Amino acid sequence: MSRVVVVLGRQGSGKGTQCDLLQQRYDRVSHVSTGEMLRDAAASGTPLGRRAEALMTAGDLVPDDVVCDVVAERLGPLLRSGNTVLLDGFPRTPAQADALSEMVGTDGLAGAVLLEVGNEDALERMLVRGRADDTAAGIARRLELYETQTAPLVDWFAVRGLLRRVDGTGAVAEVFDRLSDAVAGLVTLRLSR
Ligand code: AMP
Repeated sequence: MSRVVVVLGRQGSGKGTQCDLLQQRYDRVSHVSTGEMLRDAAASGTPLGRRAEALMTAGDLVPDDVVCDVVAERLGPLLRSGNTVLLDGFPRTPAQADALSEMVGTDGLAGAVLLEVGNEDALERMLVRGRADDTAAGIARRLELYETQTAPLVDWFAVRGLLRRVDGTGAVAEVFDRLSDAVAGLVTLRLSR
């Protein structure tokens, strides 16, 4: 049965980079990034993408029902695949966390890892990657929304005994080793051949 690992951390904490590495290094691991799905939708100009684009540029959140529909559609087949699913950028609000537990059930949720980096480090990493929504205003808005909307999710997972904290500072390879250990505490990982 597939199991979901939620990767938490403020924007710029390295979630996307690290999830890509986990997917490459380990067998049967699928990285699902809602930010990437929404950016793809925006680039292909679908009605959903057009709706999401302005919100993303401003650093605002896309409405819960819209994101939950997108995730449910993607998770459906993945949950039947038996793969470990790394969720990057979802859930981002308590309502999304509730929706996720409905989608996957208690057994399907292996837990969450929190990549911990300070605001300064996060800011520096965002300025380096230079994504279209990484404007000064967009970054400030996203960091603010992280504190008010997403940070409470850390408690949501912690009170359920589902949270592992990982030091997200330092070189990519160092963080990767620490993160791999944490994920391996939640699901079985096998190296890719
Ligand atoms: P990310 O790539 O995770 O930094 O996400 C980029 C942008 O996509 C965010 O600033 C939001 O506008 C939007 N987004 C991604 N995931 C979510 C989500 N779970 N809920 C609401 N908006 C999201």
